[in-house]
Amino acid sequence: MALDKLTGENSIVFVRSEQLFDWARSNSLWYLAFGIACCAIEGLMHASGPRFDFDRMGVFFRASPRQADVMIVAGTVNRKMAESVKRLYDQMPEPKWVVAMGACSCTGGPFREYPNVLLGVDKVVPVDVYIPGCPPRPESVHFAFIELQNKIKKASEERVAARRNRDN
Ligand code: SF4
Repeated sequence: MALDKLTGENSIVFVRSEQLFDWARSNSLWYLAFGIACCAIEGLMHASGPRFDFDRMGVFFRASPRQADVMIVAGTVNRKMAESVKRLYDQMPEPKWVVAMGACSCTGGPFREYPNVLLGVDKVVPVDVYIPGCPPRPESVHFAFIELQNKIKKASEERVAARRNRDN
């Protein structure tokens, strides 16, 4: 919708730069291209393909953690892999978000009785959105990104409201 339809012709809109940045961020979430196990192939690669088309949401994969906003942990995280996941997360610039995709990265999934398997990637990195399923459908991955967009917008609104209350 054109802006003049919302605000009327010849009007001026004031917006805080951080709100503008948050709006831009929530609509261009670039995720780090890596997968640990079957979830990466079953759900994630599918979601990026032409049928489900992540790109239309502004969601693209990047090959470097230094250019990524989102880490999608897709697969079973064992203790050895946990160190690499944490290192990749640390290399991502702020602000950054994490999506735990599939039963394995949420809770250990079907492998949770094995002592080398982590009972959820949230033991090593903070998770923003959890996607249940084994494997989750590509639609679930899309929904997780819609939830993440809402979370970013809500955090932005809360920050502005808190500042307004403090200034009053
Ligand atoms: S949740 Fe299922 S599909 Fe995903 S990594 Fe674990 S076993 Fe594989």
